[in-house]
Amino acid sequence: MDDQILVVNCGSSSVKIAVFDSHGTVLVSALAEKLGQPDARLVADGEESVSLPAMADHHQALEASIEWLQRAGYLSTEPTAIGHRVVHGGEAFHKAALLDENAIRAIESCADLAPLHNPVNLAGIEAARRLFPEVPQVAVFDTAFHQSLPRHAWLYALPRRFYEDYGVRRYGFHGTSHQYMAEEAARRLDKPLEETSIISAHLGNGCSITAIRNGQSVDTSMGLTPLEGLVMGTRSGDVDPGLFDFLAAKGVTAEETHRILNRESGLLGLSGHTSDMRNLVNAAREGNGQCKDAFEVFCFRLARYIGAMMVSLEQLDALVFTGGIGENSTDVRARTLEHLVLPGFRVDPAANAHHGRNHGGHIAAANSRFPVMVIPTREEAMIAREARALVADSHPRTSRHH
Ligand code: ADP
Repeated sequence: MDDQILVVNCGSSSVKIAVFDSHGTVLVSALAEKLGQPDARLVADGEESVSLPAMADHHQALEASIEWLQRAGYLSTEPTAIGHRVVHGGEAFHKAALLDENAIRAIESCADLAPLHNPVNLAGIEAARRLFPEVPQVAVFDTAFHQSLPRHAWLYALPRRFYEDYGVRRYGFHGTSHQYMAEEAARRLDKPLEETSIISAHLGNGCSITAIRNGQSVDTSMGLTPLEGLVMGTRSGDVDPGLFDFLAAKGVTAEETHRILNRESGLLGLSGHTSDMRNLVNAAREGNGQCKDAFEVFCFRLARYIGAMMVSLEQLDALVFTGGIGENSTDVRARTLEHLVLPGFRVDPAANAHHGRNHGGHIAAANSRFPVMVIPTREEAMIAREARALVADSHPRTSRHH
């Protein structure tokens, strides 16, 4: 069988798995979900559903998923390499890394920066190493692409000891997706990446925006944690830091505030109805005022950040939308760009309605000062590519198990 790369993306109660062939084409993706719950299950190929052991943990889920992939003929006995998504690489990782003991220790030491994410990412790594002890494993970090941020963009205006003692600074996330946007926009614009500057808006359940100058990240909206910046499905994005003290005086504990800002705010908090943009837009169309509010705040904050990102650029080759919302919501793109008349953005309604399909992703009107594009993200394919590249570098010309 052709050599294959397995991509593993562990969330708090889920594991996403995908298998890529040597051409970078996805062969299958599967989602093990509801981990730690009685009805844990594996949904493969978007349809087939296999029950997992009740209360299955990440290791059991990965084991069962791999058994299923092998049985269904998607995976040969062993993949060539395994690529793991790791949320926080701190300042230790500027690019993807082969997972040896040192790298694992460095990821562990970033865990206090991402207590919700890195430990589950490590659980996935441990599980995969136990299942495939001979297979090289690679970590691909959400933060790595943003390590090129200039100092003025990542320092918070806090006493220096917070950075020096605790690593409190802006790190940025969704780096794999933003990097892919830069590469793919450059390819579509037929420009070298090193001469391409874009603003990349990744709008999914989590949302972030990045200024990329000559192929490098120079500003981004997420900070120390993925809570800063844009309005998201359930996350507030920016709030006045004075809020914490204000809420504390009302008797709201730090843990409650954390939960509210991460899980009960954003589109969900504003609408009181849904965190899902598609449902939100439908409800707003039917006259739900709170959903309309949520939509308006989302688009305004996004537009404001697009304006802010322009500060870091000397030219703009394209504004790029991606993620479930960025790729699919004609309304969000149209409303956001309506706020950006002064910088000169103009959208072509027909191209926007079709998400730029048939136009190479382009949705700007002829009189727009800057191109605007819709580009579907391919985070997992990027992880597979990075894993393959690192393994090829470190094991030149080995062809494992063939
Ligand atoms: P994640 O960040 O979890 O990967 P996605 O990138 O899949 O999430 O994005 C999920 C979001 O995309 C949800 O808010 C969903 O409603 C939105 N979305 C998906 N399809 C559409 C659509 N046709 N119109 C508007 N929003 C959509």
